[in-house]
Amino acid sequence: MKAAVVRDSVDGYVDIKDVTLRPIHHGEALVDVEYCGLCHTDLHVAAGDFGAVPGRIIGHEGVGIVSQVADDVET
Ligand SMILES: [Zn+2]
Repeated sequence: MKAAVVRDSVDGYVDIKDVTLRPIHHGEALVDVEYCGLCHTDLHVAAGDFGAVPGRIIGHEGVGIVSQVADDVET
């Protein structure tokens, strides 16, 4: 999948990269995101204003379709 990833330099920019998803864990769902916004919080994360997090995938306001849920998740 494509993702906006915080650069190693944590300079306020992100790179669009192909990333591999890990398997889902307990209590999680996998959502095939169709659209995702970036808000000012994401910009702070990219700039390291809350601490440096190189490699972090930003964007937390997505819309999509649930494609998988963990065994302990009720639908
Ligand atoms: Zn937000």
